[in-house]
Amino acid sequence: ESASLSRIGLAGLAVMGQNLALNIADKGFPISVYNRTTSKVDETLDRASEEGKLPVSGQYSPRDFVLSIQRPRSVIILVKAGAPVDQTISALSEYMEPGDCIIDGGNEWYQNTERRIVEAEKKGLLYLGMGVSGGEEGARNGPSLMPGGSFQAYNNVKDILEKVAAQVEDGPCVTYIGEGGSGNFVKMVHNGIEYGDMQLISEAYDVLKNVGGLSNDELAEIFTEWNRGELESFLVEITSDIFRVKDEFGDGELVDKILDKTGMKGTGKWTVQQAAELSVAARLLLRRWIRENAAKVLKEAGLKEDIGSASHGIDKKRLIDDVRQALYASKICSYAQGMNLLRAKSVEKEWNLNLGEMARIWKGGCIIRAVFLDRIKKAYQRNPNLASLVVDPDFAKEMVQRQAAWRRVVGLAISAGISTPGMCASLAYFDTYRRARLPANLVQAQRDLFGAHTYERTDRPGAYHTEWTKLA
Ligand code: NAP
Repeated sequence: ESASLSRIGLAGLAVMGQNLALNIADKGFPISVYNRTTSKVDETLDRASEEGKLPVSGQYSPRDFVLSIQRPRSVIILVKAGAPVDQTISALSEYMEPGDCIIDGGNEWYQNTERRIVEAEKKGLLYLGMGVSGGEEGARNGPSLMPGGSFQAYNNVKDILEKVAAQVEDGPCVTYIGEGGSGNFVKMVHNGIEYGDMQLISEAYDVLKNVGGLSNDELAEIFTEWNRGELESFLVEITSDIFRVKDEFGDGELVDKILDKTGMKGTGKWTVQQAAELSVAARLLLRRWIRENAAKVLKEAGLKEDIGSASHGIDKKRLIDDVRQALYASKICSYAQGMNLLRAKSVEKEWNLNLGEMARIWKGGCIIRAVFLDRIKKAYQRNPNLASLVVDPDFAKEMVQRQAAWRRVVGLAISAGISTPGMCASLAYFDTYRRARLPANLVQAQRDLFGAHTYERTDRPGAYHTEWTKLA
């Protein structure tokens, strides 16, 4: 009888679940699948037979589903984060037995995972919160996987995860992340870095288009070329493709017809909140309606549309090269902040995260995959205690080399009235590191004056308070 049992199960057959289940089956692991709405079970079975008679067993009730899996059971859940995960766990855990494991693959808030770990333990169940990156395509052909929680549970499915994950030259894009909700936290920061990359690329586009006057054709060319060098990455590659797509409803390219509205919810917002909580720099975007209203008010106040539509008198070639360098240098600062956010949380939670390994498992499968991540991996291998990527000797050299171009781009953008918050924030981050002494001495003096908060001195230990107003 046990011969007919599945090696693993997956519940939640929307885009991610279906594709991950088929990927697992494709690697030769018999899998049981289940979804609350059972038509999705049939859909998955149809795909399993179309995509090569894959060993997928469709189940139509939580009980049948759980009982169709080998013990100790490993069940991956891929449903909407939050309450649906709790509901799915309660439906399935009724039939699970001590030693069985639940693996939540959703974009879950790490503290929910930590709560569920405790709840699972009470029933003798093991638990993993596993970040899955790479979207639908990644899930089907090889995602980057970030499993955290029970190490025992990880070992039970290690062979499966290592086969299913994206493969790069130094191994599969998966590693045991750490205890508790660390897998979800690392996935959250990954998403934060991803949004940062997209923001920086869009700023580069803005400067090239509105300062340099480049056409979509030229932009497509430039991003293609950039993808052959140090900026080689999935996001730069797809950006070059985007500029080439024509609008099916009218003249020109589709990109120009898309409403400039982006959402920030879930992982993006959480990253910014965590960055603030742990005192690691981060950045907020203004909502579209606020911008539209502000643009109107500023126009009525007499602000010209184009402060310096600077296309005239600009050396295009040099601008393009400067923007490339600014983008690269900004990217280093953005990753430095993401990595430091991970380290700050790792210290707080005693997760013992290996930052070099985080960079390694992001080299393939996920949205931020890039050649550049190998260099980050090596920087942390050289020095696991690196205070910031900015002070790694190799990255430091690259930033110093690009500093002049970076400042020229930001300066041009500022005089042209084009906001480049990502590039500016990155440059500010770099300059904060660049300067051994910051003007926080004055802030401390102010705080001591009005609130007797005390200050420390540069030349002797201890906390000091001064009666400033008496001495002034
Ligand atoms: P989704 O749209 O987030 O969720 C749909 C799935 O959740 C369906 O299977 C649905 O079942 C189930 N569900 C919703 N409420 C439920 C409940 N109360 N009880 C039981 N099941 C419930 O699906 P997705 O886009 O595939 O994403 C799954 C997870 O992966 C999410 O956490 C998402 O954030 C994460 N993720 C997504 C991507 C991506 O590119 N889409 C990438 C990485 C990670 P029914 O069919 O019965 O409604």
